[in-house]
Amino acid sequence: THFGFETVKESEKAEKVHSVFEVVASKYDLMNDAMSFGIHRIWKDIFIRRLGPTADTRLLDVAGGTGDIAFRFLNYLNAAENLNACVTVCDINEAMLDVGRLRAKKLGFSSEQISWLQGDAEKLPVNDASFTAYTIAFGIRNVTHIDRVLEEAYRVLKPGGRFMCLEFSQLNNKMLQWMYDQYSFQVIPVMGQLIAEQWKPYQYLVESIRQFPRQEDFKSMIQNAGFCQVNYENLSFGIVAIHSGFKL
Ligand code: SAM
Repeated sequence: THFGFETVKESEKAEKVHSVFEVVASKYDLMNDAMSFGIHRIWKDIFIRRLGPTADTRLLDVAGGTGDIAFRFLNYLNAAENLNACVTVCDINEAMLDVGRLRAKKLGFSSEQISWLQGDAEKLPVNDASFTAYTIAFGIRNVTHIDRVLEEAYRVLKPGGRFMCLEFSQLNNKMLQWMYDQYSFQVIPVMGQLIAEQWKPYQYLVESIRQFPRQEDFKSMIQNAGFCQVNYENLSFGIVAIHSGFKL
């Protein structure tokens, strides 16, 4: 039946995503730099600047992986001398969180500042209305049900809380999209093979980027989950987009 088919496909996707991040965890940060020529750092910096956290921000960073967003959030607040800032990183994969914990230690963040929580974005192990900000960076593309993730984001935010997503998107220019596709499909899996000795996960990565909804469609999905004032901003011609919305 149609239903049975869906279920198999869905559990396959979840399993695939899990094994992908299991095998790439140790090379994850290096590969990000290699594939984006370091530009992912700039995108993440802009993302945190747009969030513009204050001393009162209680952030849940979902699909937080090895901590890139959490570290930037803390650095941003530390720079403004808000030394009591803290953040919760949630990710489904312990291997990614382990790398994150190690990095946090090396960077000198204390365990009071960052809590690491293993959990599924589709069913967060978090109480209702417990955060003022929810971020998800390069994570929502990997989940099985985007709508459930958005519903959960809405649930865990306090009224007035903000949802922000940084994700690969679609370019706004046909010629650039063509060039970008050539790079993605031909170069990235080769890099994966050379640096991480893995081809398949990087082929999966490129395909998942192509399949993710366009900016406007994703905006509608966020609105459908109940968020207000939903907007997005393209970075690098739409290679990535930042979507934002509020729970009122
Ligand atoms: N946010 C980090 C960053 O920007 O570097 C990590 C992004 S990484 C591309 C995607 C992360 O999503 C992985 O760490 C993976 O384990 C996590 N992930 C995939 N499916 C998930 C789910 N259903 N719930 C929570 N995390 C998930």
